[in-house]
Amino acid sequence: MIDDCRPQELTVWAHEVREDSPEHARLAEILHVSAARHDHLCPRQVLGARMGLAGLAVIGLPAPIQHKNALVFIESDGCFADGIEAATGATVGHRTLRVQDLGKVAAVFGNLTTQQAMRLVPHPEVRERAKRYAQEVKTNYHAQLQGYRLMPDQELFCYQEVELDPALEAVVSRAGVRARCERCGEEIINGRQVLSAGKCLCRTCAGQGYYVPKDGLEERSLDPFRPDRTD
Ligand SMILES: [Zn+2]
Ligand SMILES: [Zn+2]
Repeated sequence: MIDDCRPQELTVWAHEVREDSPEHARLAEILHVSAARHDHLCPRQVLGARMGLAGLAVIGLPAPIQHKNALVFIESDGCFADGIEAATGATVGHRTLRVQDLGKVAAVFGNLTTQQAMRLVPHPEVRERAKRYAQEVKTNYHAQLQGYRLMPDQELFCYQEVELDPALEAVVSRAGVRARCERCGEEIINGRQVLSAGKCLCRTCAGQGYYVPKDGLEERSLDPFRPDRTD
């Protein structure tokens, strides 16, 4: 079953990452950045850093990413996200990193030139396997911390090609596009409006939001400087 999601071999760091290798030194630099942001170094950051490097390599791009040549989707926030960011250089501010909060340690790497998208996820046995690379270490935590640095990519990750919905182009959208929601009146950038029953709506008003106003959508006072506003 695992082999089903491994259509290709990950050949990036195909062999154990020896402690005297340039790859190990590069990873150490990335983890230094990640740990500084995170106040400590933990196994998930190492996994995120390794996944960031492997994911970009799988879509044919060197790390860190160049201006808008890639888009990275991470499926959880937290420690893992810091590792991914430090390794890839993708950030929310540059619109090269997006959080799709599914509570999974997984990421999709999209190449904006080729439109190819690959999803990486840790191998289900990754925690067990880490112990083989850290036999002198006593706790599982420390075995993962060390093992995830040294393991070959193939032992760490499964990956598969995916098609994004919406497509990469739509996620990136055109810079500078603006619309206004016909219900709440708020401005919508990056083409995130939806058309519902002939109306241009924001996702919240279209029922696709992540909150519901306590007063209901109709009653709220939009602008504290215009308390008389009724539209
Ligand atoms: Zn952590
Ligand atoms: Zn709205």
